[in-house]
Amino acid sequence: MMTTASSDPLPTIIIGAGMAGLACANYLHRAGRPVLLLEAADAVGGRVRTDVTPEGFHLDRGFQVLLTRYPEVERLIDYGALDLKAFNSGAVIRLPDGKETTLQNPLQRPMAAFSALTSRIGTLPDKLRILSLVKHVHGYTTGQLISRNSTNRQTTLDFLRHYGWSEQIIDNFFRPFFGGVFLDRSLSTAANFFEFVFQQFVIGEAVVPALGMQQIPEQLAARLPAGTVRLNSPVATVEGLTVRLASGEAIEAAAVVVAVDGEAAARLLPKATDEALVSTPAPLRWRRTTCTYFAAPASASRPDKLLRLNASPTGLAHNVAFPSDVAPAYAPAGQRLVSVSTHGEHGLSEAGLTAELRRELAAWFGPEAAGWPHLRTYELPFALPEYPAGQPARQSLRLGAHLYRCGDYAAYPSLNAALAAGREVAEMILIEN
Ligand SMILES: Cc1cc2nc3c(=O)[nH]c(=O)nc-3n(C[C@H](O)[C@H](O)[C@H](O)COP(=O)(O)OP(=O)(O)OC[C@H]3O[C@@H](n4cnc5c(N)ncnc54)[C@H](O)[C@@H]3O)c2cc1C
Repeated sequence: MMTTASSDPLPTIIIGAGMAGLACANYLHRAGRPVLLLEAADAVGGRVRTDVTPEGFHLDRGFQVLLTRYPEVERLIDYGALDLKAFNSGAVIRLPDGKETTLQNPLQRPMAAFSALTSRIGTLPDKLRILSLVKHVHGYTTGQLISRNSTNRQTTLDFLRHYGWSEQIIDNFFRPFFGGVFLDRSLSTAANFFEFVFQQFVIGEAVVPALGMQQIPEQLAARLPAGTVRLNSPVATVEGLTVRLASGEAIEAAAVVVAVDGEAAARLLPKATDEALVSTPAPLRWRRTTCTYFAAPASASRPDKLLRLNASPTGLAHNVAFPSDVAPAYAPAGQRLVSVSTHGEHGLSEAGLTAELRRELAAWFGPEAAGWPHLRTYELPFALPEYPAGQPARQSLRLGAHLYRCGDYAAYPSLNAALAAGREVAEMILIEN
């Protein structure tokens, strides 16, 4: 079935209503272009989704934060409307021997944060080096940092060692902290991405919207005219300017933007692409994570707004957070939401992982943690596309005449990258179509 032609101009069809597709749609709509967004899932957001349980817990599909100084986010998102709630800058680090060290503002005030009490994290020269990198990243724009070094194939670990940091601070601070952001404790992620993320933590805050991360894509979708977003509409093929849904419906477009994740793009694009224009194939290697949520009784003590990181290489709980201490609406009254992230392959069933995590949590928080009710587990095998050393920070977004792609897999694994790619494609379409 072909959708009937009308006298209206054909829309730009955007396939995928994740952050990249929504950004592209917003910029095109602002410029007065008709847009149709086709989304396979039952809501917008892609990897930025929040489920609300019958008890009233808000569960982000994987622990995730927004960094407030991402330039693309500052450009597009209305922060006030999201009622953003900030984590405290810093972390509680649990060392391999079970002792804990609290670091307040380690990147914003390194000399104060890494005091004598925290000498087990690193040496004095290590702390001075953090100060030096803080000064260094202040001298660059975000764009300059992310596009640096992508040709010299330096991993984050190479960068840290070359900079002179001790293995002690690499293992006790950089691996748990940045390995948690990259979902990669080996720190084989490209060094330019490390510098970009380091700068973001120095200059900005880590926040969540009061009602969950999905509020961010929902805000972008709400700015589009009614009928622009079609949910539950998986696209099966793209042939020229004809987009065919899995239902069999075919829709004609003025231009097509494939804004799906890298996995789906690898299925959709070969039939649609001018191979000559795509110099770098979409990477199909992913960083995985598992997020397990528990409910704890509300705490009478002060809200705990610090992330807890595990420096032990053998623990399953890599980081633990209390999102409802930061954004109270994440849990119903009298309860507290506990989020536990486990990276990589754990090889356990859900029940097995839950039991192991309860044991670890009891060691961290006391025996009562062993009885915290389990709420839900999210296995996320496709959480972040790998971003290895040497990969360019921007791959080709223009794939052929009137055919484009956007998404984090064509850049680097971040909300900022997804939004940037969506904007850049919109700008190309406004010039070329
Ligand atoms: C657990 C986790 C933690 C993260 N933490 C952070 C963080 O702290 N900070 C940060 O900046 N980034 C973080 N990220 C990364 C960030 O969420 C992503 O980079 C970003 O959301 C990617 O957006 P996207 O639009 O490129 O892709 P996606 O969000 O994957 O969107 C693609 C969309 O295409 C749709 N689609 C797929 N196939 C079809 C089809 N055939 N037809 C129609 N639609 C289709 C999908 O349903 C989806 O909605 C995290 C991600 C995860 C999963």
